[in-house]
Amino acid sequence: MRRSEFDIAVVGGGIVGAAIAFGAAGPGRRIVMLDEGDVALRASRGNFALVWVHGKGLGRPDYARWSARAVRRWRSFADDLAAETGTDVGLEQRGGLLLFLDGEGLTTQAAACRRIADDLGADAFPVEVLDHAATARLLPAIGPEVVGATFCPLDGHVNVLRLFGALHEGCRRRGVDYRPGAKVAAISREPGGGYRLDTAAGTVAAARVVLAAGLGNGRLAPMLGLSAPVLPERGQILVTERTGRLLDYPTGTVRQTDEGSVMIGASKERVGFDTGTETEVLAELAASAVRMFPALASLAVVRSWGALRVMTPDGLPIYAVDPSGTAFLATCHSGITLASVHAGEIAAAVAGGTLPDVFAQFSPERFADVQAA
Ligand SMILES: Cc1cc2nc3c(=O)[nH]c(=O)nc-3n(C[C@H](O)[C@H](O)[C@H](O)COP(=O)(O)OP(=O)(O)OC[C@H]3O[C@@H](n4cnc5c(N)ncnc54)[C@H](O)[C@@H]3O)c2cc1C
Repeated sequence: MRRSEFDIAVVGGGIVGAAIAFGAAGPGRRIVMLDEGDVALRASRGNFALVWVHGKGLGRPDYARWSARAVRRWRSFADDLAAETGTDVGLEQRGGLLLFLDGEGLTTQAAACRRIADDLGADAFPVEVLDHAATARLLPAIGPEVVGATFCPLDGHVNVLRLFGALHEGCRRRGVDYRPGAKVAAISREPGGGYRLDTAAGTVAAARVVLAAGLGNGRLAPMLGLSAPVLPERGQILVTERTGRLLDYPTGTVRQTDEGSVMIGASKERVGFDTGTETEVLAELAASAVRMFPALASLAVVRSWGALRVMTPDGLPIYAVDPSGTAFLATCHSGITLASVHAGEIAAAVAGGTLPDVFAQFSPERFADVQAA
């Protein structure tokens, strides 16, 4: 058996684990990132790639604040990644829209955005309510059925595969030891301090552990006295052939990538660990997208897939640390949006700094009742 000594072992090499490892890495700090193989469940490779705050945090201003902080940090995060790895992650952040095909939906969404702003007080971020004509000024390709939209200038999108690659390349350049094919089966505390991690590729010893294993956290967290009630939620996505510039802004369900294809998403389904696709669901997504943007009807769909969101009972992240301050847990939906603060505040906490308030606000203790039930 191979045995190694590390300061930090990060379990999971998705966007969450890679962002934390990237942010925590530095001279003299030995970090290992333990990951499964290519067949693993990976939300990080199947998502919609929005960097998004508007509409988030209704009734939970702490989450709205955390997401707003994340999107505000994204530009400098993308610039740092580009400077260090040479990869432009294709961040476009000039604003994003939630489009509505019925007036009631728009009214409800506008009211929700107002309530979020009221709760945030001085921290509120701008959201405008647009009628059809104002929406068409930003997105001339909308169809006549679009009644309007909400618009937030902070929102945007990225090229997620390039983000994933840049984070891994950044980790490599900062000296993180990435080990694919090293699925962690068991974690135990060593009598003298630190942890022993039994992986498919040998045993690893580390002073601190970060659980960032997405849906795998549910099984691993109890080994460290933590809890991660995560559930899979499937999202199906369609991608069209590449076309000329059609959309200058991303919407919550339709966006044009930097490479010219149009992504249409995403369903929300509770189907266990099934990552398949279903024609009826894809047809519904396509029909709604064509009502929003009629020109899409002439584009060929070239790909579709299903991917599993790492969902918590309330949809918000879980951050936890054990009483010794050496075992951490980070898991969330919206891991693309939150990548900037995972590489920032969360990585700093893991690296030994002070624990930010988010560890208390997003503690899994809020689910104590759910878990008891
Ligand atoms: C359809 C869809 C659309 C989405 N759209 C957006 C969006 O627009 N914007 C946004 O911000 N977010 C979006 N998300 C969410 C985002 O993709 C996730 O929050 C993020 O990818 C989670 O990253 P992760 O690293 O926690 O999990 P994952 O990407 O699932 O990675 C977990 C990693 O842990 C590894 N692992 C698991 N168990 C073990 C183990 N025992 N040992 C070692 N390694 C292990 C796995 O192999 C995997 O590599 C979307 C997700 C989906 C599915």
